[in-house]
Amino acid sequence: MVKITVYGAAKEIGRSAVLIEDKDTRILLDCGLKIRPKQPTIPPEGIDEIAKDLHGVILSHAHFDHSGYIPKLVRLGYKGTIHMTHPTKDICAVLWRDHLKIEGDRHWTEDNMYDTLYQISTHYYDRSFKIADGVTATFFDAGHILGSASILLNWKGQLIFYTGDINTFATPYHDSNKYPQLEDISVVISEATNGLRDLPNREKPNLAIVDAIYNTRRNSGITIIPTFALGRGQEIEAILAREFIGSNFKIYMDGMLLKMNQIYRSYFTEYWVSKKIMNWCKDHRIEVPFDLRNFIPMNRNIADNLDTFRKMIVTEKKPNIILSTSGMLEGGPMHSYLLHGATKPENLIAISGYQVEGTIGRSIVDGERNIQLFNWSRNRKGQGTKIEIKAKVRQFQFSGHAQRNELIKMLKAINSDKYIFVHCVEEAAQSVQKEFDRKKTSYIPKAGDSFNIEN
Ligand SMILES: [Zn+2]
Ligand SMILES: [Zn+2]
Repeated sequence: MVKITVYGAAKEIGRSAVLIEDKDTRILLDCGLKIRPKQPTIPPEGIDEIAKDLHGVILSHAHFDHSGYIPKLVRLGYKGTIHMTHPTKDICAVLWRDHLKIEGDRHWTEDNMYDTLYQISTHYYDRSFKIADGVTATFFDAGHILGSASILLNWKGQLIFYTGDINTFATPYHDSNKYPQLEDISVVISEATNGLRDLPNREKPNLAIVDAIYNTRRNSGITIIPTFALGRGQEIEAILAREFIGSNFKIYMDGMLLKMNQIYRSYFTEYWVSKKIMNWCKDHRIEVPFDLRNFIPMNRNIADNLDTFRKMIVTEKKPNIILSTSGMLEGGPMHSYLLHGATKPENLIAISGYQVEGTIGRSIVDGERNIQLFNWSRNRKGQGTKIEIKAKVRQFQFSGHAQRNELIKMLKAINSDKYIFVHCVEEAAQSVQKEFDRKKTSYIPKAGDSFNIEN
C-alpha cells in the first residue's frame, strides 16, 4: 500500500509539497514557499518534521512555489539526492540567490543553498531514473516554463502521475504538455489552477497586446509591460519579436528578466524549446528572439546611470516598449518606469499575468489609481513616493496553466480512476470534478490529508 499526503497547495496556490510513502520509502514531490504580498513567505505545514527521513526529493519545475523551501530540507538534515531537469537547476540557483536578498536567511542560509546545489542530480525528459529501491521516475515535458516537468513514478509496480504545473496550449517557446499513455495509473495528482477559467484560444491575447501597443503609439504613448521574469517574460519577447522585427519600435528589457533570458539562451536547443521558435530564429539569423537589433537589455553597458536612462526612455516621444519585472508591480525597476511613465494619460500599462490579491498590480486592475511606490525614490520620511496613475491600464489573458476544458480533456485521456486536485482554490477543483463520471473518484484535499492507494 502507498500513502499520499498533501502538505501544501491544498485548496490554495503556493507552497506545493506532496509526500509519497510506504513502509520502507518516503519520496517528496516539490517543496515550495507561499509568497504573500507584504508578508513573510510561509512553508508547507508539518514538512520540517519529515525532512530528515526522506529517501528522495523530486522537483517538477523552478517556480518558487514549488522550489523555495528545498534548501530548508537540507538545513534540517536531508542528505539525499534532489532530482530535477537541467534548466530547473540553473533557474533555481538564480531564484534562490535572489530570495536571500529579499528575505534573508529566514528559512535557510547561503551555505544551505550551496549544499543543496551539490545534492542535485539532473535528468532529461522521457528517460526513467532510479529514486530509491524499487522506485523510478520519468519526467514529461509540462510545457509550462523552461525545464518544467510532470513526474511519473513507478512505485514498486504501481504508477503515480503528478502533473506539477502544466500548459496544454503551445506557447512560443514550448509545445503543449506531454503525459503518459499507459494503462492503469493508480492515481493522478493534478493542478487545477484554471479550473474556473476557459481562456480564449492562444492567439487572442497575442493579437490583443500587439493591437494595444499600436493604439498607444498612435496617441504618442509608450507601452509599459510589467512581466514575470521567468516564462511569461520570454513569451512576450517572442510575440514582440515576431511583430516588431525590422520596425522602429524599440523593446527595452529590464530587471530579473535579463538573468532569466541568459538561462533561456543557454538551453536554446531543440530539446528544451520548441522547434518552431528555433526555426524562426534560424530564418532570421539570430540565436534567440531577444537578440533582434531593436531589443535592448537595460544593463550597465547602456548607461552609467540606469535610472536616468529609464526616465528618458519612458518619457521620450518614441515608439518604445518597456518590458520589466516585477510582474505584479511589487518592486524592481518597474517602479522607476511607473514613477515617470504611469502619470501620463497617453501611456499604457499592459498587465500580462495573473495578479495576486493584495499586490499593487491587482489593485490597479481593480480600478485603484493612487498607489505608493515603496522601494523606489524614497522621500525624506523614508516612505515611497505616491503617484496617481493616469495611464491606461489593461489586463491581457495570458496563462501558463492548462485552462478548464483542456485540463478535463487531458485528465479523461489518462487511464486512471483516482484523482487528487491541488494547486487551485476549492471551487476550481469542484468545477473540474463535476465533469467526471461516477466511476472515477476524486479528492480535493486540505493540507495534511492522506490517501491510501491499494495495489
Ligand atoms: Zn509554475
Ligand atoms: Zn505553481
